[in-house]
Amino acid sequence: MASAAEDIQAIRENVRALCRDFPDAYWRDTDKKEAYPQDFVKALTESGYLAVLIPEEYGGSGLGITEAGVILEEINHSGGNSGACHAQMYTMGTLLRHGSDEQKQRYLPAIARGELRLQAFAVTEPNAGSETTRIETRAVRKGDRYIVNGQKIFISRAKQSDLMLLLARTTPYSDVKDKTEGISVFIVDMREVKGSLQIRPLDLMVNHHTNTIFFEDVDIPATSLIGEEGKGFRYIIDGWNAERILVASEAVGDGRWFVERASSYACERVVFGRPIGANQGVQFPIAKAYAHVQAADLMRFDAAAKFDRKEKCGAEANLAKLLASEAAWEAADVCLTTYGGYGFARDYDVERKFRETRLLTVAPVNNNLILAFLGQNVLKMPKSY
Ligand SMILES: Cc1cc2nc3c(=O)[nH]c(=O)nc-3n(C[C@H](O)[C@H](O)[C@H](O)COP(=O)(O)OP(=O)(O)OC[C@H]3O[C@@H](n4cnc5c(N)ncnc54)[C@H](O)[C@@H]3O)c2cc1C
Repeated sequence: MASAAEDIQAIRENVRALCRDFPDAYWRDTDKKEAYPQDFVKALTESGYLAVLIPEEYGGSGLGITEAGVILEEINHSGGNSGACHAQMYTMGTLLRHGSDEQKQRYLPAIARGELRLQAFAVTEPNAGSETTRIETRAVRKGDRYIVNGQKIFISRAKQSDLMLLLARTTPYSDVKDKTEGISVFIVDMREVKGSLQIRPLDLMVNHHTNTIFFEDVDIPATSLIGEEGKGFRYIIDGWNAERILVASEAVGDGRWFVERASSYACERVVFGRPIGANQGVQFPIAKAYAHVQAADLMRFDAAAKFDRKEKCGAEANLAKLLASEAAWEAADVCLTTYGGYGFARDYDVERKFRETRLLTVAPVNNNLILAFLGQNVLKMPKSY
């Protein structure tokens, strides 16, 4: 079980050891079958590493974003895909900061023990992607219940999770002065809902277990509401810095994997009588990608340290997400080029990781929106939306 006393290096080594039981072939096979990596998620849960953000009083290890990031980084660095279970870390802040004592007592110890999964986070809708305030899914209070109607899209792991964090409008967009008001966040126990909750898998280029969800008169207890009705958008925003730092950490892990694979293949592969890495045209792009991954790593640790010290870190978290996802994508492209035709062969895993890391520039938040944050909030230029 992970403990608060463990230092970063010990966590790194322990996660690496755990990941050694899940080699390339495991992830390749899971990807090919579009299966959920159950055994990996089970092992990670049992190790306690998936519950590091849960305070010790609720059965977790009460560690920070720095440690959580290193765990996700090492999963991706090992060749795995932390997308299978990262939502539990992404969403934890909303429950910890804004959930009631009763909600925390009910869910956190069970999540920490691995009896409950909080792996689904339902925000995006067909008419509301980057513009979250445009969500149309409605939750209407009826006595001690809420009745939910609407549709979500791109909601990952809804079939592999017991709990879902749901963002819904409790007041329509047209009835609020401030568009960020009137949105509420609920913790929905999908095992208990009444009404029709239909989860339909989407066919995507990554094995991410992503779905469209239809809510038809879905009846949930009013006790599912997190915090105050109508304030949910603020609660979600509160979690965005953590999410960006965690995504950056995953991207750093991917970047390292690509750079290591590319440099070692460049030493082994002999063409025209010498290793391809002896050619500057092959070597320099790998070295450049390495430099960019290293720089992004520093930005990630800077953001994480500020977050854990409870300092303002919006600029650093957004910079880290942007730089790390771009560095990982650069490394992916360079690695694929280095492998030549073999880069396209499933057995080498490069094409799988290439697809997986591309996602990080788009989801959970598109890099354009990150640039808009930096342009407007940090550099004080006019708002572009
Ligand atoms: C595999 C996968 C898993 C996902 N999992 C989840 C999940 O679990 N839960 C969830 O809620 N969502 C999930 N998403 C959704 C994801 O968060 C969104 O796709 C993402 O936020 C972008 O929204 P969008 O696709 O609707 O793009 P849109 O908002 O339609 O934007 C399209 C493009 O236009 C750009 N754009 C829009 N407005 C501007 C502007 N003003 N300036 C500059 N550029 C702009 C965007 O950056 C983007 O490049 C997932 C998506 C994928 C692909």
